[in-house]
Amino acid sequence: MNKRSFFELSFSELEKFFTDLGFSKYRANQVFSWVYKNNIYDFMQMSNLSLNLRDLLSSSFDLSFPKIQSTVESADNSFKFLLHLGENDFIETVFINHKNRNTICISSQIGCPVGCVMCSTGKIGFKRNLKVSEIVLQVMAVENFVRSKMGKIDNIVFMGMGEPMLNFDNVIKAIKILTDKNGKSFSPRRIVISTSGFVDGIKKLKEVGLPIKLAVSLHATTDEIRSKLIPINKTFGISELIKASEEYALASKRRVTYEYVLMESINDSDQDIIRLKDLLKGLHAHVNLVKYNQSLSNVRIKTNIRRIKLFEKMLNNFGIKTTIRFSKGEDINGACGQLALLSGLNSGA
Ligand code: SF4
Repeated sequence: MNKRSFFELSFSELEKFFTDLGFSKYRANQVFSWVYKNNIYDFMQMSNLSLNLRDLLSSSFDLSFPKIQSTVESADNSFKFLLHLGENDFIETVFINHKNRNTICISSQIGCPVGCVMCSTGKIGFKRNLKVSEIVLQVMAVENFVRSKMGKIDNIVFMGMGEPMLNFDNVIKAIKILTDKNGKSFSPRRIVISTSGFVDGIKKLKEVGLPIKLAVSLHATTDEIRSKLIPINKTFGISELIKASEEYALASKRRVTYEYVLMESINDSDQDIIRLKDLLKGLHAHVNLVKYNQSLSNVRIKTNIRRIKLFEKMLNNFGIKTTIRFSKGEDINGACGQLALLSGLNSGA
């Protein structure tokens, strides 16, 4: 019989497992602590549990990790991991080492159904949503791999393969497991969910009530252009998207990040600067200007560096906090828009 992955379990589900069998609730605290605080992935090593209990846990739950099929290290200390989830299922996860913090960029789906023009993942199509355990285990497996050299992970960003809002329940349950005070206790303030613009998902995220940071892939200032780049814009247009995002910013008390990939002659005109100002002025917004990564796209698109600097200067002058974000890991195809399951190795929303 296939055992259930332990990493599917919320703390309250584990408590229920114990109480249903007549054990005390506090056993859940002991086991969560072994796994998520002490990094022990073998029930038989949990020395404060009786042998019977260890046997019971071993026969009920699986503590195994996905296999790291390959890793590629970039010149700037980023790693891209190809994780094997069983059968023919693979995902990519990227670890980014900044000077004073470590970020992991994780996937929420195998492939992606959204089909954004400037994204490699969209081009491989959609296979399936990731399970809760497969999301949690990206963090566990990568942290395990890098811990001795790079320390622990400080930030989690859902910018890998897939649109997190389309796997909403599993993403949120995984976040609740990773942030549980009895376990890993990761701060929700250090988690970013990035969306290509699923307004329904943004509204649901508001109801969850955690101070997770929201990032929105805006990339255009008119519905006409945005619908060509990001097909979901035909369902949820720019004004509806920005309205929902601002409501989220107010509810979560977190500024929303608007990602804007500068594409020469597509979205980098002077009128785009003015329209961007008109869309975001007075809102709880931060703009990240991103250089276009020439990934697997057949369409040759460039970022004009002079324009990106002008956008930054003008938007800041208009009072809209704006920064240029240089993607790390571009040389290993681990930067935004570049995850495509190519083992030479090759994001997301
Ligand atoms: Fe999917 Fe995100 Fe890529 Fe769009 S940018 S195709 S939502 S992974």
